[in-house]
This record gives sequence, structure tokens and C-alpha cells, in this order.
Amino acid sequence: MQNQYDYIVVGGGILGLSTARQLQQRFPGKRVLVLEKEPAPARHQTGHNSGVIHAGVYYKPGSLKARFCKAGNAATKAFCREHDIPFDECGKLLVATNEVELERMQGLIGRCAENELSIEVLDADQLKAREPNITGVGGIFVPSTGIVSYTRICEKMAELVEAEGGDVRFGTEVRAINEQPDQIRVDTSQGEFTGGFMVACAGLMSDRIVRMLGQTPAFKIIPFRGEYFLLPPQHNGIVNHLIYPIPDPDLPFLGVHLTRMIDGTVTVGPNAVLAFKREGYRKTDISLKDTAEMLMYPGLLKMLARNLRPGLMEMKNSLFRRGYLEQVRKYCPQLTLDDLSPYPAGVRAQAVAPDGSLVDDFLFVQSSRSLVVCNAPSPAATSAIPIGEHIVDRVSEQPGAV
Ligand SMILES: Cc1cc2nc3c(=O)[nH]c(=O)nc-3n(C[C@H](O)[C@H](O)[C@H](O)COP(=O)(O)OP(=O)(O)OC[C@H]3O[C@@H](n4cnc5c(N)ncnc54)[C@H](O)[C@@H]3O)c2cc1C
Repeated sequence: MQNQYDYIVVGGGILGLSTARQLQQRFPGKRVLVLEKEPAPARHQTGHNSGVIHAGVYYKPGSLKARFCKAGNAATKAFCREHDIPFDECGKLLVATNEVELERMQGLIGRCAENELSIEVLDADQLKAREPNITGVGGIFVPSTGIVSYTRICEKMAELVEAEGGDVRFGTEVRAINEQPDQIRVDTSQGEFTGGFMVACAGLMSDRIVRMLGQTPAFKIIPFRGEYFLLPPQHNGIVNHLIYPIPDPDLPFLGVHLTRMIDGTVTVGPNAVLAFKREGYRKTDISLKDTAEMLMYPGLLKMLARNLRPGLMEMKNSLFRRGYLEQVRKYCPQLTLDDLSPYPAGVRAQAVAPDGSLVDDFLFVQSSRSLVVCNAPSPAATSAIPIGEHIVDRVSEQPGAV
């Protein structure tokens, strides 16, 4: 039948496309369909990120993040080599700017050892020699970190899915899902599709997909905008590597960094500001539905209470560029306000538990005919290939799904 598939994948970001490809590779001959509501792949998190191929410095040893990031670093580069997609293994420098950060750096050096990452520890002079425009009292150099365009990777993956007989339907929004004992029915803006199994990688909408399945998610997606600035072309050579601060262990995100992009430009960012629209990229974007849902969630107030000071600071720095600039001037003092030009923001899909804690690791919700990726924050773009493999392993263990 025309609208009948073995596997339906919801979401044309990097996780959905990686999963679709691997379903085809693991189960040749099965019919695979990708449903994406936007007109092209990677229109949300995947196409609005820093483009970093992370090495896996920060993640708790043994966590899915630690495992998948390390494997994903190698797999992403291998995919790019195989398909002629430009990437640059430019390495990353974590820079300590004071004694407190130098002490925190020791913790990260231990983490790198536990995660079996090769690094170089630098003193202030060695740091200066590597990065003349960066000031710090010490640093960690991580050679395996790289940069790429995840949009280019998605375009290639979509092409491969179609070349191997799969269907990728853009402009097709999933509106309702009906899971039955023998199949799953997916109702969309372009009609109904049925499948043997559905995998949803819907990013900012993942909790809504869980609700469509008739379940109550034990978390809510809270959107955090990550705002960037672009440096002027005369600063394209200001750094040789990616420059990151030593993160504050009490804060969930990595801190504003200087990122060389694969197109040769350099960006500063991202911060992390609570957003009032899930797929809203401008400060002024507000969705009444998204905001009301967020305000009614008890976990939101608890999260705000837990992170009050840093949250207010992020908001202040988002409104006043001077505060934002100061964060980067700590390690790159020559930058001025005139160097910061607007650049498109991204919105992170962060799962928040009812007690207000931010879900840290990747999270999946499974039923007999569906698997929903519920929390896939950074480094999920780096990790997309091993996450896809993990999903396909779980599908193959599900009775009746193969
Ligand atoms: C500011 C920022 C910086 C980041 N930097 C990095 C980085 O440098 N390196 C890294 O590894 N990771 C980074 N990340 C994280 C990474 O981008 C994400 O973890 C990853 O892109 C998640 O991919 P995804 O496919 O799950 O989600 P998405 O890319 O958001 O894709 C989900 C897709 O599902 C579609 N969809 C949703 N609902 C429906 C529906 N009902 N019907 C049909 N389609 C639907 C959406 O339109 C969307 O295309 C960053 C994220 C942000 C926001």
C-alpha cells in the first residue's frame, strides 16, 4: 500500500535522519519514511548550533553522553571523509583565567583521563604561544575537537535515505498518533501513514509527541535560546582553535565561547536565556500556547528558583551586550562592542523534571510500537550516528518491530 511503511521516523534533524539511514542499513528491503514539518532538513536545533564536533571532555564517565560523544566524534569525521563534506579538526582550548578556574581545570583534566581523551595541559606561556590573542593562566588543549556544518551532513543523509529507497517528506507535520497492537497510525498535514514502528526525534516538540501517544511525559521541554554574535572579517584569524571558558560546575551550559565556523568566520556565543516560544529565534518571539504551558508546569518555578542568580545574569547579558562582551573579554581582551554583529540564535530543547532539575543525559521513552527521543541536548549533533545505532538496537530488541 502507498502509505504503508515498516518504519516511520518523525523529525528531519540530525537524529531522525541518522536513525532513518541506519534502519535502512540494518534492515535492507524494509520501507522507511521520514516525516518533517519544515520544507528542508535541519531547520531547528541541528541547523542553529555551534557546529562543533565535540570530543567528550565534560561528560560523566559511563553516561550515554560520554559514550556516544566519543564514538560520535570519530563517526562524524568518518562520515564527512566518506561523503566529501568539509570539516576541520582544529582542536579546542579550554582557558582558565584565574586561580579558581585553574583549580576547576584540575577536575576537567581528571575527567579527560576517565573518558580516555588525549589532551595537552598548557601553562600561561604555552597558551600564549598557541593563541597570541588569548589571555589566561593555563589551559587544556583537546586536539580531536573539530568543526563542521551539521546542515550539510543532514542534506547528505536525506539524499542517502532517498537513494536507498526511503521516502523523506518535508512540509508534513505529525498531528496525531494512534498506536494499535499490530501497527501505528500517524496522522499528518498531508494525510495518514501507517507503520510497524515509529521513532520520533522531534527535538523541541518531543514531549508533545509523547502526549500524542496517550502517555504523560515525566518531564517538560523548556526552550533556552542561545544567542550568538559574529566577529568582523578582520578577526577571522583571531584564534587558531576553538576557545572555551572553564565551565562553572553549577551551571548547566558550557559558557560563551569563540568558535571558528567551517565557513571561515568566527562567532561568539551562545548564552542560555529562557525562551517564550519553542521555535522562536528572536528575542521578541512569544507564543501564548508555549508560554502558558511552561508557566503551568510546576518544574519551571523550581528550576528558576534553583538557578535564579545565573538565570538573571544571562537575561541581563542578553539585553545589554556589554555584559555579554565582558564574558568573552575575560580571555580575549582586545574585542570591543563594535566587534559584535548580530548572528542567528538557536533554541535548545531542554527536558526539565518536575523537581526543577535539568535532565542531563540522553533520555528515551519507549512503547511496544514507538520510541521517542525525549532529551537530546549537546553533544547530540556530534553523537547522532551512535545514537542512531543505539535506537536501531532498541528497535531490533522490540518483539514485533522487525
Ligand atoms: C545553540 C545550540 C548550540 C549547540 N551546539 C552544538 C554543538 O556545537 N555540537 C553538538 O554536538 N551539539 C550542539 N547542540 C545540540 C544539537 O544541535 C542538538 O542536540 C541536535 O541538533 C538535536 O537534533 P534533533 O534531530 O534531535 O533535533 P532537531 O534538529 O531540533 O530536529 C527535530 C526536528 O523534528 C521536527 N518536528 C518536530 N515536531 C514535528 C512534528 N509534529 N511533525 C514533523 N516534524 C516535527 C522539527 O521540525 C525538527 O526539524 C547545540 C544546540 C543549540 C540549540
